Amino acid sequence: APVLPFINEPLTDFGQTENQEAMQAALKSVREECGLEYPIVISGKAYETRQMLNSRCPFDREIIVGRVSSATPDLANEAIDAARRTFSTWSAIDADHRAEYVELIARGLQERRLELASWIIYESGKPWIDADADVAEAIDFCHYYAESMRQMDHSLEADLPGEENEYFYRPRGVAVIISPWNFPLAILTGMTVAAIVTGNTVVMKPAEQSPVIAAKLMEIIRATGIPDGVVNYVPGIGEEIGPDLVSSPDVDIVAFTGSREVGLEINQKAAESTPAHNSVKRVVAEMGGKNAIIIDDDADLDEAVHGVVESAFGYSGQKCSACSRVIVLQPIYEEFCSRLKAAVETLQLGPCDNPGTKIGPVIDQDAQEKIEHYLEIGQEESELLVGIEVPNKLKKMGCYVGPHVFCNVSTSDRIAREEIFGPVLAVIQARDFSEAIRFANDTDFALTGGVYSRSPVNLKRARTEFRVGNLYLNRPCTGALVFRQPFGGYRMSGIGTKAGGPDYLHEFLIPINITENT
Ligand code: GLU
Repeated sequence: APVLPFINEPLTDFGQTENQEAMQAALKSVREECGLEYPIVISGKAYETRQMLNSRCPFDREIIVGRVSSATPDLANEAIDAARRTFSTWSAIDADHRAEYVELIARGLQERRLELASWIIYESGKPWIDADADVAEAIDFCHYYAESMRQMDHSLEADLPGEENEYFYRPRGVAVIISPWNFPLAILTGMTVAAIVTGNTVVMKPAEQSPVIAAKLMEIIRATGIPDGVVNYVPGIGEEIGPDLVSSPDVDIVAFTGSREVGLEINQKAAESTPAHNSVKRVVAEMGGKNAIIIDDDADLDEAVHGVVESAFGYSGQKCSACSRVIVLQPIYEEFCSRLKAAVETLQLGPCDNPGTKIGPVIDQDAQEKIEHYLEIGQEESELLVGIEVPNKLKKMGCYVGPHVFCNVSTSDRIAREEIFGPVLAVIQARDFSEAIRFANDTDFALTGGVYSRSPVNLKRARTEFRVGNLYLNRPCTGALVFRQPFGGYRMSGIGTKAGGPDYLHEFLIPINITENT
């Protein structure tokens, strides 16, 4: 097969006045549309419920971004039935035709790019560039999976005289997609289009914190003219509809991205079998991380400090790829800490509709309380190197937590072991590179990792000894791009798939072999 000539969607350059003005205009008109109501959509039909999800803006809790109907277990089951009914016709459509629909979704995303970024800014509290990258990644997933499906759409033949062998793929059936709020468009789109381009039908359950951006995706999907029932939009509370979605005998795939706790629960529930079940579910789960960056004693510290700050505090550390441990070799420990402190002190908090904001709020009050609790634990266990205070004006409006760095942290400390999912970084000292690798691997997770070093020997050792799914040498450990850095971990970080990579679509397919005696 030819190598994919894949080109990632370019990011918007907000340094250009016209882009900046266009974004301001998009934000303004999205702000005016805040507060609208959105129904559940099953088989093309709208359903309204009495119970609503009120999606609030994290940097201004007064703003209701939208009010979204919250599905009951009955509606969740209705959505599964709709997906099941649609499967026979959708799976029979040519792969090329399905890929065309997915490309139409990409076009819809492109046409509404700044508007979608604005919804992400208001609903998820992302700074401009992060919101823009989220939309670009969603577009990349569409193009990449559409192209990958086209390439997989042929039988492998292994014929002998008197025997014809054909090997090919079939879709599995109904896919339940359970997506997170931190990449509210990119990850939802990626999992959804992977499922439909392979011929499965979908029940889409977005995170409770980001149902509005998901409703926008649903609008775009429907505008392509894709048959009703191929994608069904079922926002709701995880505890209320999750169990039905995950354990239904009519569901064949559960694709999940989120916390380790929920991922393990889903994996267990999905495995349960009753007499009504006639297949074993496939679970695709991307979970957490406790990612480390190692700073070798010969590292370029300007680069290293910048990379660590970016990896730890981008989107307030709310990425499963984020760096939450930095392991520094003893000879440069003091210098690294003082430079890191200076860099963190320049970080300013602010509301995300402001173009200058690098660090916004965290997603909601629960997250804020959880992170603040870890700040207390950090104070007890180790030493605070730097903590940015939240100005009173911001405190009143939204869920802000300032970036915090703890130093002299030991690998057994809770802040070095538990995923905090916020702007909290633990600095650990290591005697030598071997100890640094040992500390880095001393975690249940294996998602991302980084090394800043000028030593070819140590960089080579890291390649073989640092156990993570995505290793980054001399660069930040966040911001994986579709195709270039297929993304995903193993151990407690996930079951071992790579979103945006060459194997991903296989998760949604079953290989079949047919042999004819001729
Ligand atoms: N793919 C994202 C990155 O490389 C992280 C995704 C996530 O946090 O779930 O930064």
